[in-house]
Amino acid sequence: MKILVAVKRVIDYNVQIRVKEDGTGVVTDNVKMSTNPPDDNAIEEAVKIKEAGKATEIVAVTVGEEKAQETVRKALAVGADRGIHVKVDGIVEPLAVSKILQKIADKEKPDLIFMGKQAIDDDCNQTGQMLAALLNWPQATFASKIEVKDKSLEVIREVDEGLETIEVNVPAIVTCDLRLNEPRYASLPNIMKAKKKPVEQINSSDLGIDTKPRIEQIKVEEPPKRKAGIKVANVAELVEKLKNEAKVI
Ligand code: AMP
Repeated sequence: MKILVAVKRVIDYNVQIRVKEDGTGVVTDNVKMSTNPPDDNAIEEAVKIKEAGKATEIVAVTVGEEKAQETVRKALAVGADRGIHVKVDGIVEPLAVSKILQKIADKEKPDLIFMGKQAIDDDCNQTGQMLAALLNWPQATFASKIEVKDKSLEVIREVDEGLETIEVNVPAIVTCDLRLNEPRYASLPNIMKAKKKPVEQINSSDLGIDTKPRIEQIKVEEPPKRKAGIKVANVAELVEKLKNEAKVI
């Protein structure tokens, strides 16, 4: 079983996001970047499956600018065998990413493609679903437990109503939820070893994919600032304010 894992480079989830003064986007210069958190779960799950002797190779793939290669290296440091970096400058929308991943899947012929459930920068939650449609493969989204069977997977999905168990035949797309596992840290020796693992660089234009954005971003704004709260002296004052100022009771 060969597993392809899609990993995206995003602003680290601990960073306080700042909007650019001209409203054209968010500040990324000198900002800490990391792997999209659910993509870490996707890599971890692939590595666990390989450690259990049920996968033979893990290929990490990223689409993005030059520095996105760091994200592939991190995946290699926690257990992926080799990497693919598809170079694209500027914003790449989910449709373009899924078309690129379709080309990679046609070439690599993986049995499984693991991805994150959602990228924390664009919050699109689209790429896995679009890729499944393009490849005409079954999809198991929001996976919080995966059991590898002979030619299928049993997947528990996190849905609004609770947990849903489904079975999908391979080849399949799985998008991973944060509750799927606890991603491991890369040890220093493994980070060093990862430097020697192969990473293939491909230009998106060589794949014949038009990555021009289809969405026009009009403006990015900070959410309105919350007004400061007030302290009330007693319950009577609280009730009075809720009744006459907030008008909620
Ligand atoms: P999204 O549809 O943007 O919310 O992204 C869902 C998932 O698709 C992410 O968690 C990644 O696994 C994958 N993905 C999206 N964009 C990229 C990218 N530029 N490179 C690699 N994987 C990506």
